[in-house]
Amino acid sequence: MADRLTMQDPRQQYPQPPFPRQPQPVPGLAAKMDPVPDHGETSYRGSGRLTGRRALVTGGDSGIGRAAAIAFAREGADVAISYLPEEESDAREVIQLIEAEGRKALALPGDITEESWARDLVEKTVAAFGGLDILVVNAGRQQNRADISKVSSEDFDRTLKTNLYALHWIAQAAVPHLPPGASVITTASVQAYEPSAILLDYATTKAGIVAYTKALAKQLIEKGIRANVVAPGPFWTALQSSGGQPQEKVQQFGGQSAFGRPGQPVELAPVYVLLASQEGSYISGEVYGVTGGAGIA
Ligand code: NAD
Ligand code: MG
Repeated sequence: MADRLTMQDPRQQYPQPPFPRQPQPVPGLAAKMDPVPDHGETSYRGSGRLTGRRALVTGGDSGIGRAAAIAFAREGADVAISYLPEEESDAREVIQLIEAEGRKALALPGDITEESWARDLVEKTVAAFGGLDILVVNAGRQQNRADISKVSSEDFDRTLKTNLYALHWIAQAAVPHLPPGASVITTASVQAYEPSAILLDYATTKAGIVAYTKALAKQLIEKGIRANVVAPGPFWTALQSSGGQPQEKVQQFGGQSAFGRPGQPVELAPVYVLLASQEGSYISGEVYGVTGGAGIA
C-alpha cells in the first residue's frame, strides 16, 4: 500500500466491503477485527504540533480514540487513555505506542457510567501529568435494536449514561483544570443529523452531544478555551462489530458511502490534532463532519 500521504484516489486507499462475519461481545477488541483497522500505528507522522501538552482521551484503547491518542503522542503530548477493563490488551498496545514516542502514558481502566470513576479519571490525569490541556470525550455505547419495543429501559439508561452523563461528569471535573489555550473535543456522529431507524437511543445521545458541546463552547471561550465536535460517518471500529450494527451490515459496512468503503480511524486523526492544537486557534463551537461524502446538515 502507498504511504497514506501519497496523492491517490481516496476511494481505493483502504479496504472495501464485503468484510468477513466477525461478531464480538461488547465492547469488542480492535485486535480481533478483520481487517485490523489502521489507527496510525505505522502510518501517522507527527510534526511537533502538541509539544508538552497533556491529554485525556476516553475510549483511547481502540478505534477513533486510539487514532487520536497515537497522533497526540506523535505530536509531542503526554496521553492518558480511559477504557473498560475487558479492553486491557488493546489498551496495552496504545500505552506502548505512546511511550515509544518518549511521552508519558497513563492507563485508566474503569466504567465511566459510574459517576465517581468518571470524575476520578480527570483527577488521576491531572495528578500524573501535572495538568490537563486537551480533553477528548469519545467513549461511546452503540447497540442496534430493530424496533422501539426492543429498546429496554436498561439499554436507554446505559446508552445515555455512557454517551451523555459521562460527558457531563468528565467535562465538569475537567473545566477547573483547563488553562487558556486548552481544547475540549467530543465525538458525536452523522447520526445526530441522519438517525438510523435501528439506533433510536444512540442517535438521540449524538444529537445531545452536539448541543451540549456547542453550549459549553459558549461558556469556555470566556476562559480562552475552545470546544468542538467531530461528527464521523461510518468508521471501521469494534463498536460496529460488537452490536453497533447487525452482522449483515458489518459485512457491507461503508459500502453505501460515496467512497464505497468505511473510513479508517487514522483518517480522523488530523482533525483531532487540528482541533487540539493552536492551529485551531479560531475554531470553537463547530461540528466537523468526516463522513465519506454524506455531509452533515
Ligand atoms: P470503539 O469501540 O473502538 O471505541 C469506543 C470506546 O468506548 C471503547 O473502546 C471503550 O473503551 C469505550 N467505552 C464504552 N463504554 C464504556 C464505559 N462504560 N466505560 C468506559 N469506556 C467505555 O469504537 P469507535 O467507533 O472508535 O467509537 C468512538 C466514538 O466514535 C464513539 O463515541 C462512537 O459513538 C463514535 N462514532 C463512531 C462511528 C463509527 O462508525 N465507528 C461513527 C460515528 C461516531
Ligand atoms: Mg475498545
